[in-house]
Amino acid sequence: MPRDKPAVMDSSSMSFQLYYHPGTQPWRMDPDLVQRISTWYRNHGGRPVAVHVWPRSKQGEITPDLQAPYTYRAITKEDGAHLLADATETSESLAWLLMHELGHQVIRTSPIVKEALKEGRPREKTLHTADDRYHQIDPEERLVDGFATALIGKRLDRDWWRKRTLPKFGGDTPGPTRFGHCC
Ligand SMILES: [Zn+2]
Repeated sequence: MPRDKPAVMDSSSMSFQLYYHPGTQPWRMDPDLVQRISTWYRNHGGRPVAVHVWPRSKQGEITPDLQAPYTYRAITKEDGAHLLADATETSESLAWLLMHELGHQVIRTSPIVKEALKEGRPREKTLHTADDRYHQIDPEERLVDGFATALIGKRLDRDWWRKRTLPKFGGDTPGPTRFGHCC
């Protein structure tokens, strides 16, 4: 985890810990929305987990082996979930992402659900979990996208985000990468 000044912890949440690292205050999520996500997470058997909101400039420290810019929005690792904030996201899209990541955590608590979702998972070795196409095809990604869209009321998914990152890439979509499980 990147070294930094102490993060501000959001105490409105009870079923997970939410840390806003310096520079992410403009993306602070609506406390009522965070509370609804927290209630959903608790009611679905979510285990305590740390969620960190970082400025996107910290990506290289969070994933030293995944430096290519704008390949992912969030990543779940052993030390918790990490969401990246910059002008391509809004506080609402970060809440959507939070729900998406916690959806993965809920699925992990049920081996039978996880097993069932393996069917239809992309098999191509070249297709990384950070790839845009992986998110369109993989049943687990589609399900957790559905959780987030149902709770937030808007589909702020990869396609929505990619339209916001494309101007920075001059119209190119970054290709697949090879490391980590990314969202
Ligand atoms: Zn995901």
